Amino acid sequence: MDKENSILVVDDEILNITALTHILSPLYTIYVAKNGISAINLAKERLPDVILSDVLMPGMSGFEVIAELKSNELTENIPVIFITGLTQSVEEEKGLELGAADYIHKPFNPTIVKLRVQNQMQIVNQMRMIQHLSITDALTNTSNRRHFNSRISQEWQRSMRESTPLSLLLLDIDDFKKINDTYGHLVGDSVLQNVAETIKRCLLRPMDLIARWGGEEFAVLLPNTTLDGATSVAEKIRSAIETKQYSSGELLNIHTTISIGVSTITTVVPLFDITVYDFISEADKALYRAKELGKNRVCCAPRLIM
Ligand code: GH3
Ligand code: MG
Ligand code: MG
Repeated sequence: MDKENSILVVDDEILNITALTHILSPLYTIYVAKNGISAINLAKERLPDVILSDVLMPGMSGFEVIAELKSNELTENIPVIFITGLTQSVEEEKGLELGAADYIHKPFNPTIVKLRVQNQMQIVNQMRMIQHLSITDALTNTSNRRHFNSRISQEWQRSMRESTPLSLLLLDIDDFKKINDTYGHLVGDSVLQNVAETIKRCLLRPMDLIARWGGEEFAVLLPNTTLDGATSVAEKIRSAIETKQYSSGELLNIHTTISIGVSTITTVVPLFDITVYDFISEADKALYRAKELGKNRVCCAPRLIM
């Protein structure tokens, strides 16, 4: 069975660890911590999906552990289930007030532990799915415009702060309307998906971002990339699309090309004010020029220096 989720079990009693591992290891990847400090370190290092923690432990208590986890950006959203011999409602109240997702009494019933963990995992997975959908373009599985907008402003700030170059490609498929008109919109959709995949394969750095900019247009954000670097990525994409052989069915005879506008901001010398809007607009003008000059080419905006 593919264990896509993980759980951190925290308990100072080896017998409890053994029992919980026995119940949960067929379903999840298990990490184990025997005290609060290692629980916090492991949580930051492994980012488990759920934490199942004892309350009474030598040194740091489970309540102190959760307070620490909730105060850290990395771990604040990991659901914590307490599993404890403290059965007074005042203690349970305290645990829940501290942000625990659930509270289980010892001695525990294995099936109930399993089901309660399962409930939390389901919430975690659903949240993740919603988060993914909210930033993704459904057709091409690239980032949507909203996510692109938030990333470009983050990267813009970073570039200003750290004086690193930032590049942007705007890409527009050439004569795409003809593909729709000749083969129909479903084939057009399939071409869009293929083009997105081809662009993705040309991006090698984890910080690079591809987004669907509009109908048959994409944007690629290249943090910490100079104009030369961006131009060579653009040329690689242009060439990959031009030479792509579609392998199946109705796509077999289709040949696509793409035009690309590149703009780069370099924050070395503070000369004048440029906004993120100018940065995008320069790439857009360069894309326009690429179309005017005959399509299937890369055009660069004049270097923006700030
Ligand atoms: P150019 O080379 O100047 O870019 O010409 P073009 O035909 O690619 O550009 P135009 O802007 O005239 O047409 C874009 C077409 O893209 C028209 C629109 O119907 C199509 N389109 C936009 N979004 C989608 C989509 O999600 N799926 C499909 N199949 N077509 C789309
Ligand atoms: Mg267009
Ligand atoms: Mg087009």
